[in-house]
Amino acid sequence: MSDIATTLATAIRAIHDYPKPGIIFRDITTLLGNAGAFRQAVDELVRPYNGLAIDQVAGIEARGFILGGAMAHQLSSGFVPIRKKGKLPHQTVRMAYSLEYGTDEMEMHVDAVRPGDKVILCDDLIATGGTAEGAVKLLRQLGADVVSACFVIDLPELGGRQKLEALGVEVRTLVSFEGH
Ligand code: AMP
Repeated sequence: MSDIATTLATAIRAIHDYPKPGIIFRDITTLLGNAGAFRQAVDELVRPYNGLAIDQVAGIEARGFILGGAMAHQLSSGFVPIRKKGKLPHQTVRMAYSLEYGTDEMEMHVDAVRPGDKVILCDDLIATGGTAEGAVKLLRQLGADVVSACFVIDLPELGGRQKLEALGVEVRTLVSFEGH
């Protein structure tokens, strides 16, 4: 592992059997509360996008808001929240996405991005990739150019990276953990 990956892996707390038996929940609140690790994570997330004139960073509710907001500030871009259905007050577009069991729906404001906007998608973790896939489809429905999708954590055994790459989206992750 690189120095940064080691620092970040150490700063992330593992909660076993949460929210159900067999799952290891990767808790980034310990990373967010560690000033040096938080700074390093955000610096590393934005590094390749500096100078690319990114219009918007889109963050997935809820942890993607924290990382994506910090990224947008650093890139001098806007920030777009992608939320669970029923939370946004203005007119929305909606997309179904797959969860481990069943589906759910996510929404964006219809005027949150303009056709041709260069957008970076951000979340804390990619597992099966179902959530991020729904977000990419939603952004593209409004005509956005999804330049890249970035995550602090990858769970490579669950295949999310391949799912996004099959859609033609570049995927960047900072640290990988085995298992679910
Ligand atoms: P997926 O759609 O399967 O890629 O799941 C990704 C979403 O679920 C992200 O918003 C994550 O925050 C959350 N998530 C999935 N698995 C975990 C895990 N093991 N630890 C923490 N968050 C997770």
